Amino acid sequence: MSSVASAPVRVRFCPSPTGNPHVGLVRTALFNWAFAKHHQGTLVFRIEDTDAARDSEESYDQLLDSMRWLGFDWDEGPEIGGPHAPYRQSQRMDLYKDVAAKLLDAGHAYRCYCSQAELDERREAARAAGKPSGYDGHCRDLSAEQVEAYQAEGREPIVRFRMPDETITFTDLVRGELTFTPENVPDYGIVRANGAPLYTLVNPVDDALMEITHVLRGEDLLSSTPRQIALYKALIELGIAKDTPQFGHLPYVMGEGNKKLSKRDPESSLNLYRERGFLPEGLLNYLSLLGWSLSADKDIFTIDEMVAAFDIADVQPNPARFDLKKCEAINADHIRLLDVKDFTERCAPWLRAPFAPWAPEDFDESKWHAIAPHAQTRLKVLSEITDNVDFLFLAEPAFDEASWTKAMKEGSDALLTTARAKLESADWTSAESLKEAVLAAGEAHGLKLGKAQAPVRVAVTGRTVGLPLFESLEVLGKETTLARIDAALAKLAA
Ligand code: GLU
Ligand code: ZN
Repeated sequence: MSSVASAPVRVRFCPSPTGNPHVGLVRTALFNWAFAKHHQGTLVFRIEDTDAARDSEESYDQLLDSMRWLGFDWDEGPEIGGPHAPYRQSQRMDLYKDVAAKLLDAGHAYRCYCSQAELDERREAARAAGKPSGYDGHCRDLSAEQVEAYQAEGREPIVRFRMPDETITFTDLVRGELTFTPENVPDYGIVRANGAPLYTLVNPVDDALMEITHVLRGEDLLSSTPRQIALYKALIELGIAKDTPQFGHLPYVMGEGNKKLSKRDPESSLNLYRERGFLPEGLLNYLSLLGWSLSADKDIFTIDEMVAAFDIADVQPNPARFDLKKCEAINADHIRLLDVKDFTERCAPWLRAPFAPWAPEDFDESKWHAIAPHAQTRLKVLSEITDNVDFLFLAEPAFDEASWTKAMKEGSDALLTTARAKLESADWTSAESLKEAVLAAGEAHGLKLGKAQAPVRVAVTGRTVGLPLFESLEVLGKETTLARIDAALAKLAA
C-alpha cells in the first residue's frame, strides 16, 4: 500500500560535510534511497555546504566515499550533475540571494535591525512574563524614519521571513497530523547581516527548485517544518515552487543510557564500522531496523528485500535504540551469507600491512584458502580475521599470557606429550582423525575433549579461542603442529 506516492517520486539526501559521517545520517540516507528505489523515483544527492566555518573539502570527499562504500547510488548529484546542477549549495549563492530579494519585494520577508543584545533582553522579559519567547515582530512594520535612524546608527540588518498569522497543520508521513500555532513559530532569519543566506532559506529553496516531492529526515528537524511550509506557500505564490512536498520525520536514535546518540559517541561514527570490518550489507540491515522492520519474525534480510517492502507509513515514530551487540550479530549473519570467494576477497585488507603482523612473504595463499571457509563461520566482523589466522603465517606466534595461564594446568605436560604421540600417527588429511587423536589423549588422562583440546590449542595458536581446532591443525600441517607442541612442552619444563 503506497498511497503516499502517486506522482513521480523525487527525494533528496542533503548532508552537510562537517566531519565523519555518523550512523543517524546513514539511516536517513538509507530510508531515502530505499523509498526512491521502491517507487522507482529519483534520489538527489545535494551537499549543504553553506557553513564555510564548519564544512571542509576533506569531509566532502569522505562523505561521497562513504556513500559509495555503503553501496548507495543516486540519480543527480555533485559529481554526476543533473537538470538542477550545481548540487553543492556553496555554488548556488546567487540563486538564494535572488530568492531573498523576491521575498523582500513581495513583503514575505523584511529587514530586522535588532541587535543580539536587544533580542536577548526582550526574550528574557517575555520569559519572565510567561509569554512566548521567540522573535516578537519588532521590525515587521518599521516606518521609513525608523529604518533611516537604524541605518544612521550603522546597524546591519538581517532578513527575516514573515510568518503568516495562522495555524499550520500538515500530515507527517510518520507521525500523522501535526499542528503548530503561530505563537510557537515566530518570524525567523533567512539571510545573515553579512548577506550570507542561512540553512532556513537555502534548504527549502533547493527542495523547491529541485522539485522534491518527499522530505524524509530526522525528527530533530521537525521544528523547522512549519516554517518551511509557510516559506513554500510564499515561493508558490512567487512562481518559484510548484508544490509543497510531503514530510516524514524519522525517529530519534538513542544510545547508551537512553540518551540521543550523538556525533561524539564513538559508536555513532561510520568510520568505526568500516575499520572494524562490518559489511555494508550487515550495517544497512541493522540500521534499517531503527524505526522500521520487515516483519516481526525476520531480522536478517537483503537490501533488495528491504527495498521491495519499504513503506514510509510503516516507520514508527517512537525513538529507536541503537544496540551495538545486535548490530554485530546481524553483521555476523551477513558474513555467513557471503559466498566463500566473496568472503575471502573482502578479508584481503586485514591480511596485509598495517593489520597483519606477519611478513608479506610468509603469507601462504593456499593455507588461507583452506582455512577461509572455517573462518567464515566464526567472525562477527572482518577485522577479527587477522588474529584468527596469524598462527598460520607467523613462524612462532607468541603465547597470549592469559590464555597460557588458563589452559596450562597441572598435568598439561603429560596430556600434551600423549597428544603429540597420537597426532604423530594420525591421518593428516582428515580433521576427524586429528580430533580422534586428541580425544584419545584426553581419555588416557581422564579428560573430556574440551579440556584436552585447550592446551593443544594454546600450544599451537597461542590463544584459548579461535577457529575450529582440528581444521586449523590440518591446514597448519603436521610438522609445524608437532614442533609447536614441543616448544610448549619446553616452556612448561622450564
Ligand atoms: N543539511 C541538513 C542536515 O544535515 C539536512 C536537513 C534536511 O534534511 O532537511 O541536518
Ligand atoms: Zn528586529
